[in-house]
Amino acid sequence: MHVTRISIALEQRLGDNDFGSERAQVEYSADLLASDDVIDCTTELLQLARGTIFHTLSESRTLAIRRKVNPRPRLCNECKQPLDDDDDYFHEACEEQMLERPKQQDQERRAKYEAEVAEQRAEYQRERELAGVGASDDDDDEKVPL
Ligand SMILES: [Zn+2]
Repeated sequence: MHVTRISIALEQRLGDNDFGSERAQVEYSADLLASDDVIDCTTELLQLARGTIFHTLSESRTLAIRRKVNPRPRLCNECKQPLDDDDDYFHEACEEQMLERPKQQDQERRAKYEAEVAEQRAEYQRERELAGVGASDDDDDEKVPL
């Protein structure tokens, strides 16, 4: 089979957030030569149609329409890089990392607290030893006298 002609029709209607809408519609068709690739030509025609619709609606007088035609890129709340269509607010890896953070912070707090307690114990021990009532007395008590 040899396709001799392709036609495409594209329409986009955008609401203006004020009970109205704007619509852009294009219909293109092309006659193909025997040497033309049908898929390539269809893709090219669709790109042309999308470009025309984008251009038409982006020239709208209405801000809401212009914003909808050219939306801000969706960025990850964590790393601020563009999101894929599968992601809602975070990259999967970023979300896991974010959920891990409180655990890590908790471990860091605990480690810091334990280090402070150890430091205070050591300080207390030094003071007792200087005062001559070090814990070494307790250790001596536990030793069996000869
Ligand atoms: Zn991310």
